[in-house]
Amino acid sequence: MGKNVIIIGGGVIGLCSAYYLYKEGHQVSIVDQSNLDSGASYVNAGYLSPSHIIPLSAPGVMKKGLKWMFNPASPLYIRPRLDLDFLRWVWAFNKSCSKEHMSKAIPVIKNIALLSQDLFEDLKNSDSFKFHYDKKGLLMLCQTNKMLEAEIKTAQLAKQEGLEVREVTLNELQQLEQNVKINAVGATFYECDSHMTPQEFMQEMKDYLKSVEVQFFKKEKVEDLHIQNKKIISIKTDKQKLKGDEFILATGSWTPFLSKKLGLNLLLEAGKGYCVNTENSTGITIPAILTEAKVAVTPMHDFTRFAGTMEIAGINHDINKVRVEAIARAVTNYYPDIILTSDEKNLASSGLRPVSPDGLPYIGKSEKCQNLIFATGHAMMGLSMATGTGKLVSEIISQKKASLSLEPFNPDRRF
Ligand SMILES: Cc1cc2nc3c(=O)[nH]c(=O)nc-3n(C[C@H](O)[C@H](O)[C@H](O)COP(=O)(O)OP(=O)(O)OC[C@H]3O[C@@H](n4cnc5c(N)ncnc54)[C@H](O)[C@@H]3O)c2cc1C
Repeated sequence: MGKNVIIIGGGVIGLCSAYYLYKEGHQVSIVDQSNLDSGASYVNAGYLSPSHIIPLSAPGVMKKGLKWMFNPASPLYIRPRLDLDFLRWVWAFNKSCSKEHMSKAIPVIKNIALLSQDLFEDLKNSDSFKFHYDKKGLLMLCQTNKMLEAEIKTAQLAKQEGLEVREVTLNELQQLEQNVKINAVGATFYECDSHMTPQEFMQEMKDYLKSVEVQFFKKEKVEDLHIQNKKIISIKTDKQKLKGDEFILATGSWTPFLSKKLGLNLLLEAGKGYCVNTENSTGITIPAILTEAKVAVTPMHDFTRFAGTMEIAGINHDINKVRVEAIARAVTNYYPDIILTSDEKNLASSGLRPVSPDGLPYIGKSEKCQNLIFATGHAMMGLSMATGTGKLVSEIISQKKASLSLEPFNPDRRF
């Protein structure tokens, strides 16, 4: 029998969870504090990228983060704060930056990304959706031989994992991208990756869910959870009290506020990123990562998006112009004929990635509560893992065998 499920948070994870829960016959409501039209799920680079198998917490990242801390234009920035939760996150992140953790995380990340990619393709092939989706692969453009060598090593790892990836020569690169000049010494090419226009997907998913009578409560903040005997009886928003059988916490970077109400100190930090769009024709047809600058480039529906930076600096959407300029500079550096205009840079927007310390999301129940499922912490892979996460959430609620082992995603895990 269908259950009454309330999803807190209507980003891409909340919407995809709603979709699969509805398909399993549950009655679903979504509560979100925002107008459901901005934030990470709208400004992301649109990659569905099984290629991103290396977790953020990889060997050497912490050292790089410390080095970059004093550079206002660097792609990774961790702002030190005297806050116990932040310090515990840094400690756990640092501990996860090991080879051993990376080897364990790689197949887990790959499997949920591949599951999600298949599910996105099913959605795209169904009659209900027509959002822009392309499978053109992802180029890792390198400007230095040192970076190219490192990328070739990563590509070998990915190949061992069964992903389609190869090195491309400069000649081939020019063949692949005939209408744009590229300044690089070489590249690797992940043919396994696909991409989309995220705001189109979000809009279509909201329209679909409304059409099947999923209830939306927007601009409504969940402030408290009423818990009895390890079960949530109701949630209190700033407007009303809502009762349900099961609850999903898909609150992205804000999750620690509500998880504390359960007595669970979930380690999670907001990782701010920016995007700048241009509607001018760029000639770019294949998504690319400008590896030295860590900027993502995506040809979307009628525009090109440039996205980047990871600023661990608390919850705020402030736009740091120095970092936006750094993204724009990198673009011209790799694509000498593309110059982003002041108007385009002034329209830069930001989003907060929910970053767990070990590069794996939190999906599943905590010992602390019997009828709440965590679905958060996807960091830079939230879109790539969204449909898989939604499917896993619906399988847990429907008491079906999960498509993947849930153990690595346990919200109670220790670091
Ligand atoms: C610049 C950038 C580029 C990126 N590129 C990619 C990419 O190419 N591929 C990829 O896979 N991922 C990418 N990501 C990451 C991806 O966008 C995120 O992981 C994903 O959007 C997270 O989705 P979410 O639903 O968990 O969180 P969000 O989208 O943040 O949604 C959480 C929602 O919860 C709501 N909420 C929070 N607290 C409450 C409360 N108390 N009451 C009610 N509502 C609440 C918020 O209003 C919000 O709408 C990128 C992110 C950024 C910023």
